[in-house]
Amino acid sequence: MSGSSRKDLSRRSVLAGGLTVAAAGLAGAARTASAEAQLTLGDHDITVFSDGHLSLPMNFVLPEQSEEDIAALLKPHGMATNMLTPDCNVTLLRTGDRVVLFDVGAGANFQPSAGELPAKLEDTGIDPSEITDVVLTHAHPDHLWGILDDFDDPFYPEASIWVPQGEWDYWRADGTLSATPEERKSFVVGARSRFEAIEDQVSMIRPGQEVLPGVEAVDTAGHTPGHMSYVIHGGSESVMVIGDAITNSVISFEKPDWASGSDQDRDMGIKTRRQLLDRLAQDRMRVIGFHFPHPGSGRVEKAGGAYRFAAG
Ligand SMILES: [Zn+2]
Repeated sequence: MSGSSRKDLSRRSVLAGGLTVAAAGLAGAARTASAEAQLTLGDHDITVFSDGHLSLPMNFVLPEQSEEDIAALLKPHGMATNMLTPDCNVTLLRTGDRVVLFDVGAGANFQPSAGELPAKLEDTGIDPSEITDVVLTHAHPDHLWGILDDFDDPFYPEASIWVPQGEWDYWRADGTLSATPEERKSFVVGARSRFEAIEDQVSMIRPGQEVLPGVEAVDTAGHTPGHMSYVIHGGSESVMVIGDAITNSVISFEKPDWASGSDQDRDMGIKTRRQLLDRLAQDRMRVIGFHFPHPGSGRVEKAGGAYRFAAG
């Protein structure tokens, strides 16, 4: 982080509903800045690191929508209509003597614009051996592949790695590779080899489980068969780390019923997204979206028959 963005960090501190948010990059500062966002929530300290961003062709993101419909939605937001370049937000939680990562970013072997987490941790003075727990939302490359280093050894050697049981079972099942379309077979091979390399560190998570003190697993299957989100309970305030249950701060909110090409079960993805958006709007619960504009924190508001993301 540069000196000027550090200054930004304190200048932009705002108090919102008992939750202190100090966020460089919150208002759309240059994505090249290695900005971190800090939240304090009861006894918990939360930092959101950027792992970089992805580049996704729009026909992958929205395979069932016409170019006209896509342009009508995105152009008023000043967004490109041929590519999405979503940020990747990795949440770090300090609570008691635990230092917990929710997902670990893409590592060096997925897309060149992602995989920045190790450098960000180093900049912040956090050694990978200090991470006590890694909690995974799902096993897609941009969330899991950073679990190994350049030599394919575990990057967080001291960590307990918490994996949703449904993810563990699905990616390792005999029929999964053959049932997966050619262009995504590398996701299966990649998940399997990484699961194998970390097997000794792994514990399973089931829906509703208190994974760590104050951290509750919520079933948000659809994006992947075992996708899990996590509520971090902090006294009067809670934050939900939603992974990819809601992927885009415009599309998923304004058109929750549009099929998402990255959802492995598109119908279940829509159902889960709708239910989650409803719950989050009702509870006024803050969220951290893995692919929302960095740092990805904000709230869900109802807007007509759909929703709006209020960053902050
Ligand atoms: Zn993702």
